[in-house]
Amino acid sequence: MTLDRRNFMKAALGGSAAAAAAVSLAPNPALARDNKQMPPKALGLLFDSTLCIGCKACVKSCKEANGMPAEFSTPDKLWDTPLDLSGKTLNVIKSYAEGTSDVKDREGNGYAFVKKSCLHCVDPSCVSACPVTAMSKDPETGIVGYDPDKCIGCRYCVAACPFGVPRFQYDTATPRIQKCQLCKHLLPEGKFAACAEVCPTGATLFGPVELLKAEASRRLELEAGSAAVYPRGNIESPFPSHEKPAPEYKKRIYGEKEIGGTQMMLLAGMSFGKLGYPDLPEQSFAAKSESLQHGLYGGMILPLVALAGLAYAAKRTVGTGSGEKGE
Ligand code: SF4
Ligand code: SF4
Ligand code: SF4
Repeated sequence: MTLDRRNFMKAALGGSAAAAAAVSLAPNPALARDNKQMPPKALGLLFDSTLCIGCKACVKSCKEANGMPAEFSTPDKLWDTPLDLSGKTLNVIKSYAEGTSDVKDREGNGYAFVKKSCLHCVDPSCVSACPVTAMSKDPETGIVGYDPDKCIGCRYCVAACPFGVPRFQYDTATPRIQKCQLCKHLLPEGKFAACAEVCPTGATLFGPVELLKAEASRRLELEAGSAAVYPRGNIESPFPSHEKPAPEYKKRIYGEKEIGGTQMMLLAGMSFGKLGYPDLPEQSFAAKSESLQHGLYGGMILPLVALAGLAYAAKRTVGTGSGEKGE
């Protein structure tokens, strides 16, 4: 039996339109997905670029706390000198420098330091993209963790992260993804993030996100040049404070709203874009992509509509005895 292409398409589209009309009364699945919410006991970090002196003690302590190897970027290979996040480095301090680099935290002829590590997004793209739940978000602490036993090495998480955080170990026989997991293995011992514990100025501070947010807001209210104190270590039980005149902050907490919020937040004295943290929308990428997927495939509506159209066309063709002579 043959079927004329024009009549087939006409019948199929007619059938699809009828099926589509039938499902159009269903709730719109594209509206179904909002940004996920932060768990009430979420833990995180506050990084204040204006307090960072670039000592990189946090890079070294991160390596020690997580058993990561050294990485050499100088010919003598004497020092652990990571230049970026990698399969061997979960935390790195990068520097901004412009012109004569005379003044800290100023864009023109200035310099600054910035931390790069996982931001523990509230609604993480890496978790959404992972097909086997190897990336997951702890429902209590919100820490985004990684399970190498579940990982199939597809690297969807690497492609999905808007901050370029997860890195694949290309140079080992048993590669895995590497990223900061907020030192969650230290928490049961009563310890906390090694990068925050060692930071001499409080530039990296650990604690409940709500307290860190309040501390960030307090700093933004400080008058530039006034005497200010900064807690160090864990905001719930801080080490003796660091004191220094308040800087002129950009009036923005990076991570408060970006892509649905992040549990590592940042303060700075210059544009975050200059420090490698781009402007991002408030809707999480996970919400956007999952809404699109659900819109297209939710309840298998699109495939069912196509299938219904094709089935209707075939039935009609069979019923009339011949596609070419059917009408
Ligand atoms: S330890 Fe603190 S001050 Fe030193 S580089 Fe790290 S964040 Fe900056
Ligand atoms: S920063 Fe990247 S790796 Fe970290 S939670 Fe967000 S999406 Fe995942
Ligand atoms: S929380 Fe732990 S793993 Fe994450 S950057 Fe700090 S020291 Fe490294």
